Amino acid sequence: LLLQAEATLEETSKQEEKLRPRRIEDYIGQKDLKSVLAIAIQAAKGRKEPLDHLLLYGPPGLGKTTMSLILAEEMGVQCKITTAPALERPRDIVGLLVALQPGDVLFLDEIHRLPRISEEILYSAMEDFRLDVTVGKGNTAKTRSIPLKPFTLVGATTRIGSLTSPLRDRFGIVQRLRFYELDELTLIVQRTAEILKTDITEEGAQEVARRARGTPRIANRLLRRVRDFAQVKGISPISQAVAAEALELYEVDPCGLDWTDRLILSAMIENFKGGPVGLETLAASTGEDAQAIEDVYEPYLLQIGFIQRTSRGRIATPAAWKHLGYV
Ligand code: ADP
Repeated sequence: LLLQAEATLEETSKQEEKLRPRRIEDYIGQKDLKSVLAIAIQAAKGRKEPLDHLLLYGPPGLGKTTMSLILAEEMGVQCKITTAPALERPRDIVGLLVALQPGDVLFLDEIHRLPRISEEILYSAMEDFRLDVTVGKGNTAKTRSIPLKPFTLVGATTRIGSLTSPLRDRFGIVQRLRFYELDELTLIVQRTAEILKTDITEEGAQEVARRARGTPRIANRLLRRVRDFAQVKGISPISQAVAAEALELYEVDPCGLDWTDRLILSAMIENFKGGPVGLETLAASTGEDAQAIEDVYEPYLLQIGFIQRTSRGRIATPAAWKHLGYV
């Protein structure tokens, strides 16, 4: 079973690789981010220096990894991708850092989960391109300093608030990724359809985009499901009605909410009269992980105004009651 899960994961990431834009001009939306980075790239190239360390934050699937790969491409360097939970021992991060070539980009996902000791190694690496390592133990312990090649750290996180300030302060550029607008997501769906050689009308692409919770990764995933559906039914091109029918089948509603979103909202309404309810209580009553609620589900529900956060907890708004048919 585990093997199967791993295979599927690998499969998904392979498919995702195929869909990633490689150049900044193919990266749709995120205007503010792109203008900040365009200047940073030009300035760094002009000085023949690596790009400043960059911290990207925002919900999953909005294009943090993709942007990091594009930056490396634009700078003409390699991008190494890793995730903080994979760097359990200090020597893991040391190994990565010493292997970097001049100017390389190191993409570190979920940076808020870096163990303290690895985080401290990063401080001097980021600031002075130097590793301070302690050799030996007790009285005979010595600190050795190893020079590193200049590099760019791109940190990514879904929770900027969980970063320590010494780490956050070492990033020259801190940028938030936003949920995408409908027209931007529609373009992403159309671009993906072209890569997948799938015919879809503009209205069909819009329908997929509308249900994608402002998130490119979800838009691409929904398009694959709609494409399966259309293929099996022998329908081409994919119209709005076909896209809508397919997504109903997969329980993605017209606002893009899936089964779990609706579970969270209906638990708030039915068990807590709409709130306020605390995160942990909500997690217990839905059987969902508190962190997943906070990082994955809630940001979009906040964005579309179905949830509000108050000092006493979360509240389901009248719009949520209406959407779920309680009023
Ligand atoms: P994150 O690192 O924020 O979780 P990714 O960079 O892995 O998100 O993006 C997920 C997928 O969404 C990528 O495979 C890519 O195809 C698509 N994607 C993300 N951002 C964009 C964008 N701005 N334009 C087009 N496709 C995008």
